[in-house]
Amino acid sequence: MALVNAKEMLTKAKQGHYAVGQFNINNLEWTKAILLTAQELNSPVILGVSEGAGKYMCGYKTVVGMVNGMLEELNITVPVALHLDHGSYEGAKACIEAGFSSVMFDGSHYPIEENIEKTKELVAICKERGLSIEAEVGSIGGEEDGVIGAGECADPQECKQIADLGVTMLAAGIGNIHGKYPENWAGLSFETLDAIQQLTGEMPLVLHGGTGIPADMIKKAITLGVSKINVNTECQLAFQAATREYIEAGKDLQGKGFDPRKLLAPGFEAIKATVKEKMELFGSVGKA
Ligand SMILES: [Zn+2]
Repeated sequence: MALVNAKEMLTKAKQGHYAVGQFNINNLEWTKAILLTAQELNSPVILGVSEGAGKYMCGYKTVVGMVNGMLEELNITVPVALHLDHGSYEGAKACIEAGFSSVMFDGSHYPIEENIEKTKELVAICKERGLSIEAEVGSIGGEEDGVIGAGECADPQECKQIADLGVTMLAAGIGNIHGKYPENWAGLSFETLDAIQQLTGEMPLVLHGGTGIPADMIKKAITLGVSKINVNTECQLAFQAATREYIEAGKDLQGKGFDPRKLLAPGFEAIKATVKEKMELFGSVGKA
C-alpha cells in the first residue's frame, strides 16, 4: 500500500478513542522494525522524521525512496504516513516536494500572528497536494534537534485560532517534555488539555514527548482527545541498551558477531518490542 496522509487514521482514532503512534526513524533498521511491527499488529502507523534525522539519512528524497521501497518489498498493507516532525517553514516545503505524505510545521517559536500566517500558507499547499498537516501551539519542553522549549501550557484560545486554519491535527504543550522526564516533573496538565479539546472539538490532538509518561496519564490523555502520540527517545534508549548488552557480553568478538547484521540485530528487536508495547498501550492494535 502506498503512503497515505494521516487524516483518516487520526479521525478514526479520535472517534474510536485510541491513539496512533508516531515513531521517529533514524536509519533502515529503525524503519524496518517499525513497519514490520505495525504490519504484525495490524496497526496504522506514522513514521516521524526530524530535520536532523532527514539530513542524517542523506536528505528527504532518500527517506522517501527508502520508505516507499520498504512498503512495497515488505508487503506492508496497513496505513503508513511519512511525517516531518517539528518542521521549519522551509523544511515543510522541502518535504512536500520530496514526497512526504504529512508534515508538521512548528511555528510555536514565532509570535502567534506569524505562526498563523505561515501555517495558513502551508495548509493551503498541503490541501492542494493531499497531505495532512500538524501545527503546534505553545512550545513543548526539553530539547528536540537543538530546539529547546520550556514545557509551557498552550493557551486554549490560541489553539482554537490555529485549529480553525484547517490543520489536520494540533500539537499543544500541556506540560509534556521531549526526552527523559526529570524527577520533579509536575505531570500533564489535564485541565489545559480538557480546555483545548472543548474549544477545538473534532480536531485530533497530538501528544509529543511520549517517552516516560506513565501509562495511566497516556490513557487519560486519550480520553481527552489525544489521537496521536509521538515516541522517539524510548526507541533510542531500547536500541542503545540492547546494543550495549551485546557488546558487553563479548558477542561481537565471537564467530561472525562483528557482522553489522548481527551487531544491530538486538537493537532492532528492542525497537520492535518497544513499538509493540506502545501500540498496545495506545490501543491502535487491530485498527488498520
Ligand atoms: Zn515533538
